[in-house]
Formats: sequence, structure tokens, C-alpha cells
Amino acid sequence: MNRKKIVAGNWKMNMNFDQSNNLINKLKSISVKDIEIKIAPGFTYLQHAVLSLKTTNIQVLAQNIHFEEKGAFTGEISHEMLTSIGVKSVIVGHSERRKYFNESDKILSKKVKIAIDNSLTVIFCVGEELSDRENNKYFDVIKNQISIGLFDLEKKQIKNIIIAYEPVWAIGTGKTANVDQIQEMHQYIRKLIKDNYDLDSSEKIRILYGGSVKPNNAKQIFSLKDVDGGLIGGASLNFSDFNEIIQAVNG
Ligand code: PEP
Repeated sequence: MNRKKIVAGNWKMNMNFDQSNNLINKLKSISVKDIEIKIAPGFTYLQHAVLSLKTTNIQVLAQNIHFEEKGAFTGEISHEMLTSIGVKSVIVGHSERRKYFNESDKILSKKVKIAIDNSLTVIFCVGEELSDRENNKYFDVIKNQISIGLFDLEKKQIKNIIIAYEPVWAIGTGKTANVDQIQEMHQYIRKLIKDNYDLDSSEKIRILYGGSVKPNNAKQIFSLKDVDGGLIGGASLNFSDFNEIIQAVNG
């Protein structure tokens, strides 16, 4: 199955307006054949990013969404706030949201639902802690996160989901899962989709790897059979690193 590869940069809570704008302007020069490039700048720059990248193939992602329609939820971001400025995708379930903002699997399933019901595509992040891996619980943890987070969706809706496997112990630590661990988990996730939906859905769904992807390891990781690109944190803040990672997919 030929799945279009994705390289997505998660800028997290980094950069001021000028720095973001500068990086966006540099990104415009990237030339790629058949890859989806996505970036997730801070909320206050989203509209500017959408307008700046209008004539490019680079898509702008939001880093979060609230699960309610609208109303008295001070500080939260609704689906309509995103779609009305041209944002088409959102990251849900990042381990930092799970850990620092207590987003449970149940809350995340509501976020996925409101996003999908309102035509946003979702990059849904899953990943085990180091202790889960050491205690051989990593498959169960991922199964749980995916079943609760996604399996309320209908078959036609799962098409609008991209899964990002991001072992928590590899995020921002400089440690990368090894290629066998990555391929094994991606294959497992694809099987979960097949068992719950069907073969076609499992062959079409894109599964990204995230966790200390850098220019020097990107090519090896992206060449794995069930890896369809990456979700990049730290290295996406630096133009030449992000570009090299993109070119690792391109080449
Ligand atoms: C992330 O936060 O999604 C991530 C993968 O970060 P890093 O690349 O910095 O490990």
C-alpha cells in the first residue's frame, strides 16, 4: 500500500511572533515531491501562519482543541475558532497534554469526536512510559489508548485520523526507540485498526513515529515498513534540521 508520507512539526510553547514568522518564511522554500508537510505553531500565530502558507503545500495544525462546542470555558479553543481561520487539522493526545493537563483517554476521545465531527483531521498521539516498557505492558497501554480514544469513531471517520506513536521516554530526551521497537509497535497499531475496522482502513491509516527524530536518524526510521513519517518536536524549530528530516523522507 502506497501511503503518502507526512512530516509534522510540533512547535509546542516556543518562539515569539518574529521567530515564528521567520521560520515560516524559510519553510516556504522547501521543495518536495510527494510528502505532506505540517506545522503546529502557537495559537496566537495560527491565522498568520495559515495566510502566509496559503499558496504552499504546508498545512497548519493546532496543538489542542476543547471538547465542548462553545461557551463558558475561559481560555479554551473551540473547533469553530480553528476552522473559521482555515485550520484543518489538530493534534490530540500529546503526552504533554496527558501528563501536565490531566487529559484522560475519555477526555481525549471527546476531543477526537468533536474535531472529526467538524471536519478537522486529527493527529492522535499515543505512547507508553518507560516503566510500561520495562514491565512489558507497552502493548496493553497502546491498545487502551487507541481503543478508548478512537474506537467510538465509525469506519468512515477513522479515515480522518493519523496516529502518532511517541514513546514518552523518547520525547525530548535524545533517546530514540530502536528500529525493531518502532516497527513492532507500528505493525501492532495497524493490526488493532484492522481488527476493529477492516483491512482497507488498516492499510490506509498513516502512523507516524515521534520521539527525538533528528537529521541523523530520520532516514532509517522513515524507511521502516509501517512508518509513514514523523511528528517532530525539538528539531522542527530549526529550519535546517527540519528540512533535512523532510529530505530524508523525500529521498
Ligand atoms: C513531540 O513532542 O511530539 C516530539 C516528538 O518531541 P521531540 O522530537 O523533541 O522528541
